[in-house]
Amino acid sequence: MTRFDFSPLPRIGLGTDRHRLVAGRACMLGGVHFADCPVGPQGHSDGDAVLHALTDAVLGAAGLDDLGTLFPDTDPRYQGADSTTLLRTALQQVAEQGLRCWSIDLAIQCDRPRIAPRRAEIRAHLAQLFELPLDRVNLKGKTREGVGSEVEAVDVTAVVLLGPAA
Ligand code: MG
Repeated sequence: MTRFDFSPLPRIGLGTDRHRLVAGRACMLGGVHFADCPVGPQGHSDGDAVLHALTDAVLGAAGLDDLGTLFPDTDPRYQGADSTTLLRTALQQVAEQGLRCWSIDLAIQCDRPRIAPRRAEIRAHLAQLFELPLDRVNLKGKTREGVGSEVEAVDVTAVVLLGPAA
């Protein structure tokens, strides 16, 4: 009996993340600094929920568990680790499997900062990080529509498609 060969087929990955937004924290989202935003994501590292969701999506598509399993915050090597470094490490592990990212789409939900004015900048940054053309990276900013407004937060949902690197 022949076994079905999955190896040439694309793999989809989903990642989500949520961080509280608090005063006195630098606001980093998608590797972009929103210097004029009075609140920023609370977290161990820079709290960049966009990069965390993307890292989870990449790991999920590759069948590599998740961010917390691969980079436990109890491991001193990853304490306070830079979110970009974690994402690069995940992409490296994916590359070692002969895979690469084919496309990204994500939604960022928050009332502050406004994403739309910086959307092109985040897109360009992610395209560079993932080594993708701009039209393979998409994102949208959405407000929280007044829901859960007693605790300010940012919510991110990311979907990535991985496929053979060559
Ligand atoms: Mg996170």
